[in-house]
Amino acid sequence: MSEIKKDWMKEVWRHIIAYGAKPMGSLNLRNTAGYLETVVREVCGNVKICQYPEKAWVAEEWALLDGEGKEIPSYLFLESGGSRWFEGRVEFAGYHRVWDMYVWKRYMIVSNEREIKAYITVREGEEAIPQMLFARGDLPHYMVGSEEEKRLEAAMKSRTLFRGYAKIQKQYDSWLQNITGRIGKEGKKVILCAHYDTVYSTEGAYDNAAGTAVVLETARQLSAYRVRNQIEILLTDGEEFNLRGSKKQAEAENEELAFVLNIDGVGRENTLEVWSGPETFERRIRRILDESKEVFVPKYICPPPPGSDHAPYYEKGNDVCMLTFNDQGILHSPKDVYEERKLENMEKMVRIVLELLQGLGVIEK
Ligand SMILES: [Zn+2]
Repeated sequence: MSEIKKDWMKEVWRHIIAYGAKPMGSLNLRNTAGYLETVVREVCGNVKICQYPEKAWVAEEWALLDGEGKEIPSYLFLESGGSRWFEGRVEFAGYHRVWDMYVWKRYMIVSNEREIKAYITVREGEEAIPQMLFARGDLPHYMVGSEEEKRLEAAMKSRTLFRGYAKIQKQYDSWLQNITGRIGKEGKKVILCAHYDTVYSTEGAYDNAAGTAVVLETARQLSAYRVRNQIEILLTDGEEFNLRGSKKQAEAENEELAFVLNIDGVGRENTLEVWSGPETFERRIRRILDESKEVFVPKYICPPPPGSDHAPYYEKGNDVCMLTFNDQGILHSPKDVYEERKLENMEKMVRIVLELLQGLGVIEK
């Protein structure tokens, strides 16, 4: 295997991070796409932008204040509704299922007229971050950290009034941009993908500038191999908004696929999560990773959870595998910034992806 040019991947990674937060529909995201277009052209010798019209949701301003007028740290769920100032008492509302993966406690704010004005979900064990709202709500829906739950419980007892507002915007003239490049001309198509958008609260060094840089570095290294399949490099938009970009891309796909390999999140932990399916495909992945020269602790999940870009392809009946080195403490957080140390797992991830492509017969020396 050729030596990884450490600085090339690092530069691409830093460059993507430098655009700041990149939520769907934002100028930052559009500028990032412009940059990535040049990088994909550089490594693949070709590039194609796949555009799809899509309404964008923007969080402009919001606040949630307790009975004493003190702000409760919060984020709006993606696609939350908006509201002018409201006030009401806190009541327990049941549970909120997020991404088919978490079930968290949900509270509501109820006015004197017994009208529900807003919802609050408590993220278990961690600080507040933005996440996708699948409840398709029209009211403000805040996420708060587990530390704030005491304040909600105290307010329920004392029956003090909470206040808040949420200013959101919808952009109807917006579009998604998936960026693709091709390597190789024969055989069934393999998709190697990563999303380049972020939620609005972070520049997303780990989620997922790192995955994007890993995919591009892997593509660059392929010049040292004989490529037996067509490999499509796919950088997706709108992953954080319920996989908007990959859903459109999978829907438009009319070629037969060998499999989809998705890199989403390259954090600092040692556990390599492997979300793959069906079981026949997971067995092939497992056999290769069992023989890997790299050091990591694999954690297999099958069928693959729906929380990333492989999901629309899995639903279409394709073989898929998503790889991540987790870093839950900084996920979707302003703390997810450039850090030299993250490069170690990024380099490891490139080598693992190359091992997989080799083991699956897509490339050979
Ligand atoms: Zn991600």
